[in-house]
Amino acid sequence: MTHQVHIIGGGMAGTEAAWQLARRGIQVRLSEMRGGGDMTAAHQGTGLAELVCSNSFRSDDDTSNAVGLLHHEMRRCDSLIMAAAARAQVPAGSALAVDRDVFSAAVEETLASLPNLTVVRERIDAIPDQGHVIIATGPLTAPSLATAIGTATGADALAFFDAIAPIVHHDSIDMDICWKASRWDKGEAAYINCPMNEEQYRAFHQGLLDGDKTEFREWEANTPYFEGCMPIEVMAARGLDTLRFGPMKPVGLDNPRTGRWPHAVVQLRQDNKLGTLWNIVGFQTKLKHAEQVRLFRTIPGLQNAEFARLGGLHRNTFIQSPRVLDRQLRLLRDPRLRFAGQITGCEGYVESAAIGLMAGLMTAAELGGRAWTAPPRTTALGALLSHVTGDAEAETYQPMNVNFGLFPPPPADVKKKQRKEAYTLRAKADLTTWLA
Ligand SMILES: Cc1cc2nc3c(=O)[nH]c(=O)nc-3n(C[C@H](O)[C@H](O)[C@H](O)COP(=O)(O)OP(=O)(O)OC[C@H]3O[C@@H](n4cnc5c(N)ncnc54)[C@H](O)[C@@H]3O)c2cc1C
Repeated sequence: MTHQVHIIGGGMAGTEAAWQLARRGIQVRLSEMRGGGDMTAAHQGTGLAELVCSNSFRSDDDTSNAVGLLHHEMRRCDSLIMAAAARAQVPAGSALAVDRDVFSAAVEETLASLPNLTVVRERIDAIPDQGHVIIATGPLTAPSLATAIGTATGADALAFFDAIAPIVHHDSIDMDICWKASRWDKGEAAYINCPMNEEQYRAFHQGLLDGDKTEFREWEANTPYFEGCMPIEVMAARGLDTLRFGPMKPVGLDNPRTGRWPHAVVQLRQDNKLGTLWNIVGFQTKLKHAEQVRLFRTIPGLQNAEFARLGGLHRNTFIQSPRVLDRQLRLLRDPRLRFAGQITGCEGYVESAAIGLMAGLMTAAELGGRAWTAPPRTTALGALLSHVTGDAEAETYQPMNVNFGLFPPPPADVKKKQRKEAYTLRAKADLTTWLA
């Protein structure tokens, strides 16, 4: 074996991890199947770090936006992806957008300049049985390798589709309307309940039927609807009362303000250990994002809801990271293997690259015999890593973008208007300490 680390997948995460390792003098083999006779259903070419859809890395505002803050932190960690984005940038207001061909070429060119990095155009079908391995094969991992990953993680820990229910920031829920309780008051008061009367329910049901939906892409058309994760609008189409016998069931939920069961109830369940994020139970949906915001804000108690994530359903290979990985992205069952990128359950180009960056740093530390210290949870890197590796609820784990709901909240006396800035100022200061 001529390499010390084998990285599988030359996308956003794999190239960033390769850069972080190879520039520290470590021998790396980077295997990418495109260009070796294979293709995914969404990629178009053979370039490394191909952007499969939008050419935007979203907001570049590092003073009040979580992904902008992540850009800032990655730049300070000498990120390849951020450096290539700077070379390929095109005008896009406050967003960071790139010419995708220039971007991919910049990544390739930089990696080609590293003598201890070998890029091999090959599909990997089995997990290499020795040495350090980083699996960064993304949402469209080749089926043969996905099977091998399922064997390594346990098949029940690997998903081929996501079923994303919207997530709401806790501090945007109106608790003068909602109340906390579990059905029949069994156990602790685990759910936030939003009550609906009959008129509100009928209007909401009609809104689900009428709302604009996103179509599946051609290659996603066989997305299975398991009964347990059927889109809410598909359930609504089965009949007016189907939802009242499903996720909007009111039985056993006494509204403390009326002493009665409402006509229907929307329930939210805690989604992270910090208690800052709550998912709307059973509300996975293909409704368009703007439609979701409009319709879900008609739910009593959610009229001012701020969404950390909106619902969706896509083809997406990802593992149940909070359950199967340790805090250093290593598979608990076989710590030689690390996972990086979207396959860990983060979502987005930037987030995938950020997890790749940290996987590279962790592996470099391990090979150098140094203890790795994770970035503080108050930073975007640390918040994202903590979420993926244990802070998210494992049972309901679904892909997640970086957002302020993943961070410990700033002190309660910070005014609402200043909270975003408080997050970013604190993150930058804590990153400085960490980098030092
Ligand atoms: C259709 C689609 C559209 C998306 N649109 C956006 C968007 O607009 N904005 C956004 O921020 N995010 C988007 N995403 C989400 C996601 O963030 C990106 O897919 C991102 O590229 C993930 O980075 P990654 O490195 O984890 O995976 P990828 O960038 O997909 O890289 C994985 C690489 O591994 C290779 N590979 C797979 N299996 C093997 C194998 N067995 N052997 C060798 N190589 C292999 C693939 O060819 C690929 O190059 C989209 C995802 C999909 C599927």
